[in-house]
Amino acid sequence: MSEGHPSAIELELARTAEASPAVTLHVRGCGICRAEVARLEELAATLRGIRESRIEVSADLDGRVLWHARSRARVARRTSSGRTLARWAAAAAVVLAVATTLLPGGLHRSGLAVAREDVDGNGTIDIRDALLLAHEVEAGHVSGTRDVNGDGVVNEEDVRRIALRAVALRS
Ligand SMILES: [Zn+2]
Repeated sequence: MSEGHPSAIELELARTAEASPAVTLHVRGCGICRAEVARLEELAATLRGIRESRIEVSADLDGRVLWHARSRARVARRTSSGRTLARWAAAAAVVLAVATTLLPGGLHRSGLAVAREDVDGNGTIDIRDALLLAHEVEAGHVSGTRDVNGDGVVNEEDVRRIALRAVALRS
């Protein structure tokens, strides 16, 4: 953190007022990072909107994607192992990158079979599908047709696969 801008994770923590004093200070004095924090806030609002539009499923999913990123950043901060920290940070960065695809409202059509990953059945795979499946997993309303990775269970791993797929289709 001594040079350059804070990581995306640190900026997300800044958004929720959980960042270290050094990061908080940096963001206060850096227009670029303030803009990034504002963008993350916009994203969080979008995630909240999605959650509210799915209240019939599970109301206690609070921006699950960002929550994961934050909790992983906390773990990373507690550990002294640079390698572990890098691994968690990389994982969290992927989650944030996935979440970011929400902002443009991008819809990604694919010529390949998309049925399993396309949880909401709108013909595209995007982060909404990952969030929707996360809701279903949490609520215990899962169907075998959502077994994206074919390991016989429908769980967070399938959610992760969909999220990664959404990113891959976008890039
Ligand atoms: Zn900065």
